[in-house]
Amino acid sequence: MERFTIEVGSYGVNCSVLHSDGKAWIVDPGEEGERIAALAARRGLVPQAILLTHAHFDHIGGIPALKRAFPDIPVYAHPADRPIFGHPFNQMPPEYPSIGVPDGLRDVATLEIPGLQVIHTPGHTPGGVCYFFADFDGAPLLLSGDTLFAGSVGRTDFPGGSMSAMTESLRKLADLPDGTVVVPGHGPATTIAAEKAGNPFMA
Ligand SMILES: [Zn+2]
Ligand SMILES: [Zn+2]
Repeated sequence: MERFTIEVGSYGVNCSVLHSDGKAWIVDPGEEGERIAALAARRGLVPQAILLTHAHFDHIGGIPALKRAFPDIPVYAHPADRPIFGHPFNQMPPEYPSIGVPDGLRDVATLEIPGLQVIHTPGHTPGGVCYFFADFDGAPLLLSGDTLFAGSVGRTDFPGGSMSAMTESLRKLADLPDGTVVVPGHGPATTIAAEKAGNPFMA
């Protein structure tokens, strides 16, 4: 499995494209769906599914354009985030109009990708998840969404947020191998070791 990660939209969401043998999985297409589709096509990749870490508008805005490019592509998210999709607060027009609940929305628990472990990490949203691979091209990899950032964590003051749930979720992430490469929903990559050493929320 390989990956490339690009920053999309004015909120700078890290969209990762995981790929293997010509198949691709698109994580958090926050905006610029056409650009993501073009980048995949340039590499000869056929997208299999869209994976969401959570349903905030800045992580889902590229879904309509991707669905135009790949009409049957399923979207996976945790069911606890389903009410967030069409929520009136979950938009920022004109760049991020409400996209509603995507057609073909599936429970992330039914996702089958070799080596992938889905970790439920509520706190930022009730249905927040992190995607973990114990061995991704030679090292553990965590796509942490807006749960864990380099030096910080996601806000817990949005509807459905919970600081106590966040604390429990961070405890789960602290148990991952120290060498785990962490690609957050925003900002630079880090490692579990670096966050345990320097992130006050992980102490
Ligand atoms: Zn968020
Ligand atoms: Zn975000």
